[in-house]
Amino acid sequence: MLRSLFISLSKAEWAKQQIMRWNFSWRMATRFVAGEMLASAIDAARALNKKGINVTLDHLGEFTSSPDEARQAVDDAIAILEAVEQSGVRAGISIKLSQMGLMIDKDLCAENLRRILQTAQAHGNFVRIDMEDAPTVDDTLALYHQMRAEGFENLGVVQQAYLYRAEADVAALLQEGARIRLCKGAYKEPPHVAYPKKSDVDSNYDRLARMMLESAVRQGAPRLSEDGLTPPPPAIATHDELRIANVRRLVAELGLPKDALEFQMLYGIRRDLQEQLVAEGYPVRVYVPYGTQWYPYFMRRLAERPANVWFLLSNVLKD
Ligand SMILES: Cc1cc2nc3c(=O)[nH]c(=O)nc-3n(C[C@H](O)[C@H](O)[C@H](O)COP(=O)(O)OP(=O)(O)OC[C@H]3O[C@@H](n4cnc5c(N)ncnc54)[C@H](O)[C@@H]3O)c2cc1C
Repeated sequence: MLRSLFISLSKAEWAKQQIMRWNFSWRMATRFVAGEMLASAIDAARALNKKGINVTLDHLGEFTSSPDEARQAVDDAIAILEAVEQSGVRAGISIKLSQMGLMIDKDLCAENLRRILQTAQAHGNFVRIDMEDAPTVDDTLALYHQMRAEGFENLGVVQQAYLYRAEADVAALLQEGARIRLCKGAYKEPPHVAYPKKSDVDSNYDRLARMMLESAVRQGAPRLSEDGLTPPPPAIATHDELRIANVRRLVAELGLPKDALEFQMLYGIRRDLQEQLVAEGYPVRVYVPYGTQWYPYFMRRLAERPANVWFLLSNVLKD
């Protein structure tokens, strides 16, 4: 109920205007967002690197509505890749295709994605295409395949365990040796598209994680690159301790080396667990978002955990 409400609010312009006005919203958002400027994100990456944690940087923004805005988003992504090279931090980038013009024109989006991949390739870096809501999944996968067919190896895709289609998509992607980040899914999807029950999403997550780890074994367990930039094929993106425990068990059962997968978590969430996994010898990557367009990302983080919402509301009353 609260989850649906906050996901709906993430798309409502009136709510955005109101909530972004409250001082406390930004103060609370900084728990999940590294700052408004690229320099703050690089600082956050450096601090995480010092703890042995790799990073993927995301310049926040989604659903651009003009070709110029989309080109600006590409320039911003390129600026991140250049700042990573100059600063020497262990960080790749994550991008959203809706930010790169997917809703405007697919050819424009392909051209934009190609520019980012070419720059990343020149810097020996890696690009992860985030997965957005269900109506964008086919186009996102089509563009991923198009870029792979053009010879780009330095890109990965995301799969969402709440989607019924995920099992078939993961199976097909694994056949092609895709690097997949597995998450539960952060959007509000109708029951004919996604499992409505959390327990079903969790079981599907475990099933898909097994498929990904077994595939890594069959591929000869490709490892995380030494510079920390190119991830191993399976990326387990969750803060759910039961899902993580299941993956640990599978790793032991399959005899997979620990650096043939990585765990991924979001900036500001379960720092204790991030450090514990590093201490156990697993590669960990943290998703570090930054920028002025933090509102929808922040709302999705609130949607995930009712305690966050109560915390926000109680402080709004005090603000
Ligand atoms: C690295 C990374 C990349 C992602 N990329 C995408 C993507 O491309 N597309 C997409 O749809 N989704 C993406 N997500 C979000 C994901 O789909 C989930 O919405 C999110 O991770 C919460 O689910 P969970 O797996 O942590 O499990 P949950 O069952 O939701 O949470 C398990 C536990 O984690 C902690 N937790 C989870 N969320 C929060 C929070 N917001 N605040 C505080 N504690 C929290 C709590 O302790 C909770 O009990 C990504 C997640 C990660 C970690």
